[in-house]
Amino acid sequence: MQKLNFMNRISIAIAVSIMVFMVACTNHQPNTTKEQKTETIFPKGEKIANNNFTGTAWLQMLVNNDSIYTTSIGNVTFEPGARTKWHKHPGGQILLVTDGSGYYQEKGKPAQVIKKGDVVKIPPDTEHWHGAAPVNGLTHIAISPNTDKGSVVWLQPVSDIEYNQLSK
Ligand code: MN
Repeated sequence: MQKLNFMNRISIAIAVSIMVFMVACTNHQPNTTKEQKTETIFPKGEKIANNNFTGTAWLQMLVNNDSIYTTSIGNVTFEPGARTKWHKHPGGQILLVTDGSGYYQEKGKPAQVIKKGDVVKIPPDTEHWHGAAPVNGLTHIAISPNTDKGSVVWLQPVSDIEYNQLSK
């Protein structure tokens, strides 16, 4: 076998590097797994601009409240660390968790971990909050029935101290 000179060795090294790079690119092209993970059935909607949330959350209204159904339904996406303020619904609320994981907590009770596939029934006039885990996003459909009994009552924010205790 012919002994390779310095320039030939460099050429081979470059060729091998290019091949490794191309294989790496090919392997990373089917990025669908990651995309599918964040893809939900309903649109993400608009970033919530009011101050009833801590962190970044998104809302797509699916059913607007009216006098026939007295129900509003929205798809809410919380980025990691995002959550609602403490609040209560005079007509109660049902959450259908469609992606990710996070928390639901009623005042005076321990927080519950909630994750994709969970259904949460929130009794009327019960002080509570819901939101994402610190490192995971959360998407849920929020069904707010009996809107004739009154609209949501917003209270104090879930402080960082309250929130950070949960992941300890
Ligand atoms: Mn709620």
